[in-house]
Amino acid sequence: MEKREQLYSGKAKSVFRTDYADKLILHFRNDTSAFDGEKIEQLERKGEVNNKFNAFIMQKLSAAGIPTHFESLLSAQESVVKKLTMLPVECVVRNIAAGSICKRLGLKEGIDINPPTFEFFLKNDALHDPMINEFHIRSFGWATDEQIKQMQSLAFKVNDVLKALFAKAGLLLVDYKLEFGVYHGQLVLGDEFTPDGCRLWDAQTRKKLDKDRFRQGLGGVVEAYEEVAHRLGVDLS
Ligand code: ADP
Ligand code: UDP
Repeated sequence: MEKREQLYSGKAKSVFRTDYADKLILHFRNDTSAFDGEKIEQLERKGEVNNKFNAFIMQKLSAAGIPTHFESLLSAQESVVKKLTMLPVECVVRNIAAGSICKRLGLKEGIDINPPTFEFFLKNDALHDPMINEFHIRSFGWATDEQIKQMQSLAFKVNDVLKALFAKAGLLLVDYKLEFGVYHGQLVLGDEFTPDGCRLWDAQTRKKLDKDRFRQGLGGVVEAYEEVAHRLGVDLS
């Protein structure tokens, strides 16, 4: 496969065209950002850890029958993926209260959310990714009714698979963000599943092992991601 020109460079990944019209190369960079790009740092090894972590999780999800864009690992920091037409929404599933829902609803961090809840956000940095609902998505044509239903049902299926996977590694899956896109007419999970886009706590101590370590200046960010990877059995070599 030939790597062609860069199509896009986001906050953490760069996207390249390839000699296959329907395949892209995702390059996971070391850049780490928070608060809509206000706080940015380079964290050694993060690109590589996230690339390998994402490959591991996407393969688990595929094996459980969830369609994903992941094709193969290409290099330490690059993967080949299907080229999706991304839907401009972010899907968040929450099992335990943390982050924005605590501020928005006045919840204490750490309380169980039962049953798990689901939220849509508009993917728009300039507007700070505002929370939206299904009616907005339909009215403004960001996705069809069918796609809305599929995103919700796939997002909860991901929850069943990953809650169990992380539980076996002594971890709580607190919340996570997913992005979907369309590939030859089919809704497919895209983007990434890494500790940059989810919250993971040690089940015993509730130590944070995700990007909140960066957001909150707790230190040991990549070390925490590596600990999670090791506990899951992700090959980081
Ligand atoms: P952001 O755009 O939020 O700064 P990233 O730095 O992670 O985020 O950039 C990656 C971009 O690539 C995102 O905009 C994401 O929606 C997009 N993307 C992820 N997977 C695919 C895919 N399979 N096909 C097309 N675009 C994708
Ligand atoms: N998230 C993300 N990208 C975003 C916003 C949120 O990956 O642009 C993830 C975040 O890491 C967390 C979940 O989605 O795992 C819920 O985030 P929340 O709404 O609590 O916002 P935050 O506290 O991250 O601002």
